[in-house]
Amino acid sequence: MLFLRIFFVILPFFNLAWLSGHERPLSIVMIGGGPAGLGAAIEAKLGGAHVTIVEKRKAYTREQYFFLWGASLGILKQWDVNTADFYLGYDDIDHELVGVAQIKKFERALEERVKELGIPKIVGAFKEIRNKKAVIIQNGQEIELPYDLLVGADGEHSVVREQLGIECRNLGKATGCIAVLDKKNPTLHFVLPLWSESLFINNISIPSMTIISGQSNIINQDLLAAAAFREGWTDEASLIASGHGIFFEQIPVSLQQALTFSNAEKSAILLGDAAGTASFLQGLGANTALEAAVVAGRFFTSSHTEADYAAYNQALQELTDRLISDSAFLFK
Ligand SMILES: Cc1cc2nc3c(=O)[nH]c(=O)nc-3n(C[C@H](O)[C@H](O)[C@H](O)COP(=O)(O)OP(=O)(O)OC[C@H]3O[C@@H](n4cnc5c(N)ncnc54)[C@H](O)[C@@H]3O)c2cc1C
Repeated sequence: MLFLRIFFVILPFFNLAWLSGHERPLSIVMIGGGPAGLGAAIEAKLGGAHVTIVEKRKAYTREQYFFLWGASLGILKQWDVNTADFYLGYDDIDHELVGVAQIKKFERALEERVKELGIPKIVGAFKEIRNKKAVIIQNGQEIELPYDLLVGADGEHSVVREQLGIECRNLGKATGCIAVLDKKNPTLHFVLPLWSESLFINNISIPSMTIISGQSNIINQDLLAAAAFREGWTDEASLIASGHGIFFEQIPVSLQQALTFSNAEKSAILLGDAAGTASFLQGLGANTALEAAVVAGRFFTSSHTEADYAAYNQALQELTDRLISDSAFLFK
């Protein structure tokens, strides 16, 4: 009896959430609605959290294509994301099911699932953290969003990272070049990925076009044509050399890694390109972002103890270390 009385006297001094898990759904503000933010928002919602996405772009318009690993397709399936607008096929080397999608179509497919799950999305730009609230600029006005957890999925130039005082290691810069060739190829064909000492090049054919991508310290249309020729892709090489195609040249790519991936005091974590940015043509960025979203999903359902933050940091360290070491050879 005495024990029970003592228990009820001291009970109010404890956080109820500590005794019974979260007594209300965890409230997450996700800054950035790119692949990492949309994916992590789906994870959060499926894990029972209340999540709001803040994205500064009004629409998804990125025209470039990117390449998805088999593991990423598995994650998308788990999230019930519709991949009908993607090109899927088996790669020539490992015979693994892989995919190609226009970035905007990939983002729209994720957004569609976000909508189906009833996740709210606000169009606005994150500015700063003020008294555990995210300050957002929307139509020139400030709005404040309170949160239990803030997620910085706001890309390479992350404002959240800056607000958390997390420094970044800048490890190098490189250039990308993409040629989209109108070559009516009746079959899907993926040659992935090929690289030499300082050049990465790949060749992906889908029914209506062939995409040749290259990344190096220096790469332009001529060097891409020469590299394609060396790989034995003579038709593609001559199309590139004669300027028959759509070219995306001088795409800047940086190699950078955050020094840490969370700030427990400010209840915030980083994700995707905000945590680490590397070679995009090798199919690392968005694929790693999806893996990181799954890791974040585990963190969302944890109790957010110091040990949980440490485990999150460790997992992101491993993911981004892999990203960095796999592409370091392509950077100055
Ligand atoms: C040409 C090109 C080809 C690529 N090809 C591949 C590929 O083949 N495979 C691959 O895996 N990756 C590829 N990538 C890389 C891939 O696009 C990125 O790694 C991936 O998009 C990272 O996702 P993210 O969500 O972390 O960041 P982002 O895609 O950069 O998304 C961040 C989002 O945050 C928003 N945002 C930024 N600041 C704020 C703010 N203050 N407030 C609110 N919103 C904000 C941005 O508008 C953006 O939508 C390619 C990239 C490019 C440019």
